[in-house]
Amino acid sequence: MNVPSQPPRFVLLDRDGVINTAVRNGYVLSPDAIEILPGAPEAIARLNAAGYRVAVASNQQCVGKGELSEAGLDAITQAVRDRVAAAGGAIEAFFYCRHLASDGCDCRKPKPGLLLQAQRAFGFDLAATYFVGDAYTDLETAANASCPAIFIRSGLDAARCDAGEPFPSPPAAVVADLAEAVDFILRDDTSPSP
Ligand SMILES: [Mg+2]
Ligand SMILES: [Zn+2]
Repeated sequence: MNVPSQPPRFVLLDRDGVINTAVRNGYVLSPDAIEILPGAPEAIARLNAAGYRVAVASNQQCVGKGELSEAGLDAITQAVRDRVAAAGGAIEAFFYCRHLASDGCDCRKPKPGLLLQAQRAFGFDLAATYFVGDAYTDLETAANASCPAIFIRSGLDAARCDAGEPFPSPPAAVVADLAEAVDFILRDDTSPSP
Protein backbone atom coordinates (compact mmCIF):
# COMPACT_ATOMS: atom_id res chain seq x y z
CA MET A 1 0.00 0.00 0.00
CA ASN A 2 1.22 3.45 -0.86
CA VAL A 3 1.45 5.73 2.12
CA PRO A 4 1.37 9.37 0.99
CA SER A 5 4.54 11.09 2.13
CA GLN A 6 4.05 13.72 4.79
CA PRO A 7 5.69 17.12 4.36
CA PRO A 8 8.56 17.55 6.82
CA ARG A 9 7.71 19.21 10.12
CA PHE A 10 9.58 22.44 10.72
CA VAL A 11 9.62 25.27 13.20
CA LEU A 12 11.04 28.59 12.01
CA LEU A 13 12.82 30.84 14.47
CA ASP A 14 13.95 34.42 14.45
CA ARG A 15 17.47 34.57 15.88
CA ASP A 16 18.12 37.73 17.91
CA GLY A 17 15.78 37.89 20.91
CA VAL A 18 14.74 34.26 20.45
CA ILE A 19 17.94 32.18 20.52
CA ASN A 20 20.33 34.87 21.68
CA THR A 21 19.98 38.23 23.37
CA ALA A 22 19.06 40.97 20.94
CA VAL A 23 21.22 44.07 20.94
CA ARG A 24 19.15 47.23 21.22
CA ASN A 25 20.06 49.77 18.56
CA GLY A 26 22.84 47.55 17.32
CA TYR A 27 23.94 44.16 16.15
CA VAL A 28 25.72 41.03 17.26
CA LEU A 29 29.02 41.57 15.48
CA SER A 30 31.24 38.77 16.80
CA PRO A 31 30.89 35.25 18.16
CA ASP A 32 32.24 36.51 21.48
CA ALA A 33 29.38 39.01 21.73
CA ILE A 34 26.68 36.40 21.36
CA GLU A 35 24.72 35.68 24.53
CA ILE A 36 22.63 32.56 24.17
CA LEU A 37 19.33 32.90 26.03
CA PRO A 38 18.90 30.45 28.91
CA GLY A 39 17.17 27.25 27.82
CA ALA A 40 17.09 28.08 24.11
CA PRO A 41 19.47 25.32 22.92
CA GLU A 42 17.62 22.75 25.04
CA ALA A 43 14.29 23.94 23.61
CA ILE A 44 15.58 23.39 20.07
CA ALA A 45 16.82 19.93 21.05
CA ARG A 46 13.34 19.14 22.38
CA LEU A 47 11.78 20.11 19.06
CA ASN A 48 14.25 17.88 17.24
CA ALA A 49 13.49 14.98 19.57
CA ALA A 50 9.78 15.40 18.80
CA GLY A 51 10.46 15.16 15.07
CA TYR A 52 10.68 18.84 14.14
CA ARG A 53 13.50 20.32 12.13
CA VAL A 54 14.44 23.92 12.83
CA ALA A 55 15.47 26.78 10.56
CA VAL A 56 16.31 30.38 11.39
CA ALA A 57 15.11 33.48 9.54
CA SER A 58 16.90 36.67 10.55
CA ASN A 59 17.52 40.18 9.25
CA GLN A 60 21.20 41.09 9.44
CA GLN A 61 21.34 44.51 7.87
CA CYS A 62 24.74 44.92 9.53
CA VAL A 63 26.21 42.95 6.60
CA GLY A 64 24.71 45.34 4.06
CA LYS A 65 26.01 48.27 6.11
CA GLY A 66 29.53 46.84 6.04
CA GLU A 67 29.63 46.42 9.82
CA LEU A 68 29.90 42.62 9.58
CA SER A 69 31.61 40.50 6.91
CA GLU A 70 30.25 37.26 5.49
CA ALA A 71 33.01 35.45 7.36
CA GLY A 72 32.00 37.22 10.54
CA LEU A 73 28.38 36.24 10.03
CA ASP A 74 29.48 32.64 9.39
CA ALA A 75 31.44 32.65 12.65
CA ILE A 76 28.39 33.84 14.58
CA THR A 77 26.22 31.22 12.90
CA GLN A 78 28.73 28.54 13.83
CA ALA A 79 28.79 29.74 17.45
CA VAL A 80 25.01 29.34 17.61
CA ARG A 81 25.23 25.92 15.98
CA ASP A 82 27.86 24.84 18.48
CA ARG A 83 25.78 25.88 21.46
CA VAL A 84 22.71 24.11 20.13
CA ALA A 85 24.76 21.00 19.33
CA ALA A 86 26.10 20.98 22.88
CA ALA A 87 22.50 20.59 24.07
CA GLY A 88 21.90 17.76 21.61
CA GLY A 89 20.00 19.78 19.01
CA ALA A 90 20.60 21.05 15.50
CA ILE A 91 19.53 23.96 13.32
CA GLU A 92 19.03 22.83 9.76
CA ALA A 93 19.61 26.15 8.02
CA PHE A 94 20.00 29.86 8.60
CA PHE A 95 18.23 32.18 6.16
CA TYR A 96 19.58 35.71 6.48
CA CYS A 97 18.58 38.95 4.80
CA ARG A 98 21.78 40.97 4.49
CA HIS A 99 20.20 43.86 2.62
CA LEU A 100 19.73 47.42 3.71
CA ALA A 101 16.21 48.52 4.54
CA SER A 102 16.60 50.97 1.65
CA ASP A 103 17.45 48.19 -0.83
CA GLY A 104 13.81 47.21 -1.25
CA CYS A 105 14.64 43.48 -1.37
CA ASP A 106 11.92 40.88 -0.99
CA CYS A 107 13.57 39.03 1.90
CA ARG A 108 13.92 41.65 4.61
CA LYS A 109 11.30 40.93 7.25
CA PRO A 110 8.42 41.78 7.43
CA LYS A 111 8.53 40.70 3.79
CA PRO A 112 7.94 36.96 3.69
CA GLY A 113 10.96 36.14 1.46
CA LEU A 114 13.08 34.34 4.06
CA LEU A 115 10.20 32.11 5.10
CA LEU A 116 9.39 31.40 1.46
CA GLN A 117 13.05 30.53 0.79
CA ALA A 118 12.94 28.07 3.68
CA GLN A 119 9.71 26.57 2.38
CA ARG A 120 11.20 26.10 -1.09
CA ALA A 121 14.32 24.52 0.39
CA PHE A 122 12.50 22.00 2.57
CA GLY A 123 8.96 21.65 1.27
CA PHE A 124 7.12 22.03 4.57
CA ASP A 125 3.53 23.25 4.76
CA LEU A 126 3.68 26.93 5.73
CA ALA A 127 0.14 26.87 7.11
CA ALA A 128 1.26 24.19 9.59
CA THR A 129 4.63 25.77 10.43
CA TYR A 130 5.12 28.18 13.33
CA PHE A 131 7.35 31.21 13.05
CA VAL A 132 8.62 32.21 16.49
CA GLY A 133 9.73 35.81 16.92
CA ASP A 134 10.26 38.53 19.50
CA ALA A 135 9.38 41.48 17.27
CA TYR A 136 6.12 42.91 16.01
CA THR A 137 7.63 42.72 12.54
CA ASP A 138 7.99 38.95 12.99
CA LEU A 139 4.21 38.75 13.41
CA GLU A 140 3.77 40.71 10.19
CA THR A 141 6.28 38.40 8.50
CA ALA A 142 4.33 35.32 9.53
CA ALA A 143 1.07 36.89 8.35
CA ASN A 144 2.67 37.80 5.02
CA ALA A 145 3.83 34.19 4.62
CA SER A 146 0.44 32.80 5.79
CA CYS A 147 1.97 30.85 8.65
CA PRO A 148 1.03 30.89 12.35
CA ALA A 149 3.17 32.96 14.71
CA ILE A 150 4.28 32.75 18.30
CA PHE A 151 5.35 35.96 20.04
CA ILE A 152 7.98 35.55 22.69
CA ARG A 153 8.72 38.09 25.34
CA SER A 154 12.47 37.57 25.66
CA GLY A 155 13.36 40.24 23.14
CA LEU A 156 13.11 43.87 22.22
CA ASP A 157 9.37 44.24 21.71
CA ALA A 158 8.25 42.85 25.08
CA ALA A 159 7.89 46.46 26.27
CA ARG A 160 5.50 47.23 23.41
CA CYS A 161 3.46 44.19 24.38
CA ASP A 162 3.52 45.24 28.06
CA ALA A 163 2.33 48.72 27.08
CA GLY A 164 -0.67 47.17 25.39
CA GLU A 165 0.30 48.12 21.87
CA PRO A 166 -1.86 45.98 19.62
CA PHE A 167 -0.17 43.26 17.62
CA PRO A 168 -0.12 43.80 13.85
CA SER A 169 -1.47 40.29 13.46
CA PRO A 170 -2.67 38.05 16.28
CA PRO A 171 -0.16 35.36 17.28
CA ALA A 172 -1.27 31.84 18.12
CA ALA A 173 0.43 32.25 21.49
CA VAL A 174 2.28 34.83 23.59
CA VAL A 175 4.91 33.18 25.76
CA ALA A 176 7.91 34.07 27.89
CA ASP A 177 10.67 32.44 25.93
CA LEU A 178 11.59 29.77 23.42
CA ALA A 179 11.16 26.99 25.97
CA GLU A 180 7.53 28.03 26.50
CA ALA A 181 7.03 28.35 22.75
CA VAL A 182 8.19 24.76 22.36
CA ASP A 183 5.87 23.67 25.17
CA PHE A 184 3.01 25.27 23.25
CA ILE A 185 3.99 23.71 19.92
CA LEU A 186 4.34 20.24 21.37
CA ARG A 187 1.09 20.54 23.33
CA ASP A 188 -0.68 21.76 20.20
CA ASP A 189 0.77 18.93 18.11
CA THR A 190 -1.97 16.51 17.19
CA SER A 191 -0.26 15.09 14.12
CA PRO A 192 1.05 11.54 14.16
CA SER A 193 4.70 11.11 15.06
CA PRO A 194 6.97 10.57 12.05
MG1 LIG B 1 14.44 39.36 16.89
ZN1 LIG C 1 16.91 40.95 1.82
